[in-house]
Amino acid sequence: MPRISVINESSVVSDADIALIVPALQAQWNNDLVASWQVEAATFDLLPTGATPPPQTSWLVFLDDTDQANKLAYHDLTNDGSSIAKVFAKSLADHGQSLSVAASHEICEMAIDPKLSTSYQDPSGSWWAAEICDPVEADQYKYSIGGVWVSDFVTPRWFDLPCDSPAFDKQGFVHRSFEILAGGYAQQWDTAKGDWSQVNGFGLSPLKLLVPAAGSRRDRRRRKRSLWFRSQAIREKAPDHSIVIPSPAKAKHGASRNTPARPAAGKP
Ligand SMILES: [Zn+2]
Repeated sequence: MPRISVINESSVVSDADIALIVPALQAQWNNDLVASWQVEAATFDLLPTGATPPPQTSWLVFLDDTDQANKLAYHDLTNDGSSIAKVFAKSLADHGQSLSVAASHEICEMAIDPKLSTSYQDPSGSWWAAEICDPVEADQYKYSIGGVWVSDFVTPRWFDLPCDSPAFDKQGFVHRSFEILAGGYAQQWDTAKGDWSQVNGFGLSPLKLLVPAAGSRRDRRRRKRSLWFRSQAIREKAPDHSIVIPSPAKAKHGASRNTPARPAAGKP
């Protein structure tokens, strides 16, 4: 069973704030994602300040903003190579965005594609990244779980995959496969460029057109996997309980994650 360590390194949200969100994230995963995507159920644990995340857990880390890259949890994988989702609380607040919707977005996408390695091919032969919240990412599509706003997400049917449900997204706003709603976006593999291109829905917020936050899933998708590096992050018993990582230059080269994406079906 996947276990998610929830780590609060942000100075702008309290553990109490996050404790209100976590049950909704767990309920969304264990009810809605299990029903639509048949993922394994997960447990979420909000760690006390300064606690070391247990091994073999994925991390959901709340940070202030990406300016903390040299100090906090700016890395692509946890110490033992598990996946990590990052939520930039101060950046979100600065732009009037919902913390819980952003956390839900990252968690849903991590649940479906923890290693950011999965894509699906459309009938024309084009590949689409398995980022299930991007096409429906706008405030008007969110929904409430126990009074906490969470993100809409697309079902396998959006990717033209077999699916028990006739719905293309959880909330029923989408009407056909590969439709990108107003305000949403998607990553499509551009064969000519050999790179990902962002396809934008009508009226996409200028925020989403900006360069993605360093370390975000969008950023990692756009970086070649050979440019990821395996974090040496440790949660030191430092006075400020920060997560400290060495600079990339000091990171052991042998720990680099440079395995090319497997050319298996569904993973170009
Ligand atoms: Zn996304």
